[in-house]
Amino acid sequence: MTTEYAIRLDRDACDGVFACLVRDDRFVESEDGLAAIADTATEETTVARFDDDRLAAAEGAAAACPLDAIKVEVVGDE
Ligand code: SF4
Repeated sequence: MTTEYAIRLDRDACDGVFACLVRDDRFVESEDGLAAIADTATEETTVARFDDDRLAAAEGAAAACPLDAIKVEVVGDE
């Protein structure tokens, strides 16, 4: 069984501390100095879906964010 998750990044809450970048390489610094999710098309896109193999990194990034701008959600089971 594979569980599908999503990272949800609230860029309004983000303050560019970048604790997330060293914990999950899907987070990158965008041109406006805030975090963005790397494997999505634009910096406005703030949700990335993934499977169990990336869960630990995503949860590490969420836990490290001092502004609580990252949420990890379960979006489905197969
Ligand atoms: S750790 Fe949080 S505040 Fe810092 S860049 Fe990442 S999302 Fe933004």
